Amino acid sequence: MLNKKLNAKLLWIQFEDVLAPRLGLTVKERAVYSYLLRHSLVVGKLRLQFAVMALARTLGLSIGAARHAVRRLDELGTLRVLKRSKTGHLAEMRLPEKIRAVRPGRNGASIVVGATGTLGAVGMGTTRAVGAAEEPPALTLETTDFLKTWALRKAIHDRERGACFYCLRRTPANVRCLDHVVPRVRFGCNSYRNLVSCCLECNSRKRDHPAPDFLRTLYRLGRLTPAELDARLRALKDLAAGKLRPSLPPVR
Ligand SMILES: [Zn+2]
Repeated sequence: MLNKKLNAKLLWIQFEDVLAPRLGLTVKERAVYSYLLRHSLVVGKLRLQFAVMALARTLGLSIGAARHAVRRLDELGTLRVLKRSKTGHLAEMRLPEKIRAVRPGRNGASIVVGATGTLGAVGMGTTRAVGAAEEPPALTLETTDFLKTWALRKAIHDRERGACFYCLRRTPANVRCLDHVVPRVRFGCNSYRNLVSCCLECNSRKRDHPAPDFLRTLYRLGRLTPAELDARLRALKDLAAGKLRPSLPPVR
């Protein structure tokens, strides 16, 4: 059993917003990881025993695809297969903060995995990233989907300079995420005018509330001063007006 009680909500946000996109997990790998997470960390266990055949049947995958997903998750360091036998696998799940892709590297560098599956380190001071090579040559700011690649997501994080857009707290790389100011369920898009870097707490508390209402809630809770609230409301307007432009990663 785990010593500390895990916050399942934060665990899921870390998985969806940080781990899966950084590792470039496929839909099948996501499904397998979610299933294993559900039966391990979410119920307070680090280790779990499972049979690949049963896993494949439950998720509607072929046995080969399920086995391949488990192997790749093992290679990526999200779990460690301790034992393989006829009765099944014994695996130990890694806590998100122990996974290299989620953890900031030395000197603030983030470890990322490119499309080829190779590991590379990208310094905070450099803009060249593994994902940048995938960008089309005619990249224009207004038509860019900023959730498309790791490098574009990083450009939004860099614009906020390590602070949560809403509560202004410092947000280390392993606990920050991107938030849609106008939620996707309300047809918000992935433009730089609608995405901000924020802390996990603000991301989970804001949910589908309008951003100005959420900022006023933070003010009522004493998390923002009156001056900060005014500045944040202005920043929201500037964002929508296209005044808060991120630097696009260079195109190779
Ligand atoms: Zn925040």
